[in-house]
Amino acid sequence: MARVINFSAGPAALPEEVLREAAAEMLDWHGSGQSVMEMSHRGKEFMSIAEAAERDLRELLAIPANYKVLFVQGGATLQFEMIPINLLAGKPSADYLNTGEWAKKAIKEARLFCQVNVVASSEDKAFSYAPPQSAWKLDKDAAYVHYTANETIGGVEFHWVPDTGSVPLVADMSSNLLSKPIDVSKYGLIYAGAQKNIGPAGLTIVIVREDLIGHAVPTPPAMLDYKNYADNDSMYNTPPTYAIYIAGLVFQWLKRQGGLAAIERQNIAKSKLLYDFLDGSRLFKNPVARADRSRMNVPFTLADASLDEEFLKGAKARGMVQLKGHRSVGGMRASIYNAVSLSGVQALVDYMREFEREHG
Ligand SMILES: *Cc1c(COP(=O)(O)O)cnc(C)c1O
Repeated sequence: MARVINFSAGPAALPEEVLREAAAEMLDWHGSGQSVMEMSHRGKEFMSIAEAAERDLRELLAIPANYKVLFVQGGATLQFEMIPINLLAGKPSADYLNTGEWAKKAIKEARLFCQVNVVASSEDKAFSYAPPQSAWKLDKDAAYVHYTANETIGGVEFHWVPDTGSVPLVADMSSNLLSKPIDVSKYGLIYAGAQKNIGPAGLTIVIVREDLIGHAVPTPPAMLDYKNYADNDSMYNTPPTYAIYIAGLVFQWLKRQGGLAAIERQNIAKSKLLYDFLDGSRLFKNPVARADRSRMNVPFTLADASLDEEFLKGAKARGMVQLKGHRSVGGMRASIYNAVSLSGVQALVDYMREFEREHG
């Protein structure tokens, strides 16, 4: 059976090696006589899986000891709500950066809980750039500053870390966590839905500095309180066990690749290959400011939109799928997460070149 080259934005491609391991262990995990899906989350087998996953994630990201790793459900979207519930800590307002579709959704939810100061916006240029920090209007009394480190739909990525002084920095890294090394100590909280660059849908990773835990709204619902997750090792209720297991296999795969510095080199090479082609093309183009282009999600348009369908059809015939752009922006988008190989990106570029020759 031939596997497709999957350019989906999420749920997205997973490393084939990981899928093969999971398949081999499906009926009998390590001699336990059961699938990971069938295990008690409190049994020693699954506990060892969850512990290893957290240990490997901490190692990959060099997470300092004063940060908790929480395994949550509800997607990144639930974090749009849990963040104000937990981090406002009695303050009336929070600062948000408006850089695209995901930032807008985060802002919309935060407005249910507090005054939102939009410190900068790139809406003036159709969300095609990352506003430089010199243009931000930060409030030193804000409870926290929230930004979207990689806008999955617009294809805009921050290649620098904002400096918010003593105000905690909160980052939605749903689509670029684990694509490169980061300095966790610069953040108050980092969160990511797993289904982009980490593992299956159903798991959300929250990395939060300990001193920010325990200040939720009065009498917070148990499932919305970070403290409840931290105090119970993310096992207050049944966690998404199979998703944690697969994410754990992905972490081991990342370590075998040489860790995040090695992965970053691959991601630079992959994205450069595609952007260099786009910049030299007369038929295809990418709308994002060069310095802010995402290494994970590459939107592009054809000069003549009436060719879109033919382009997608030809791609499918060559085993390349999920290239259609997000419904809000149209055009195409190639998501080239860690699990998409350089040869996969090369195949796409080869096809685009051929398409351009025939239609340019
Ligand atoms: C996909 C995505 C989300 C939403 O994630 P869900 O897990 O579907 O809630 C939020 N932010 C970013 C940057 C995303 O890419």
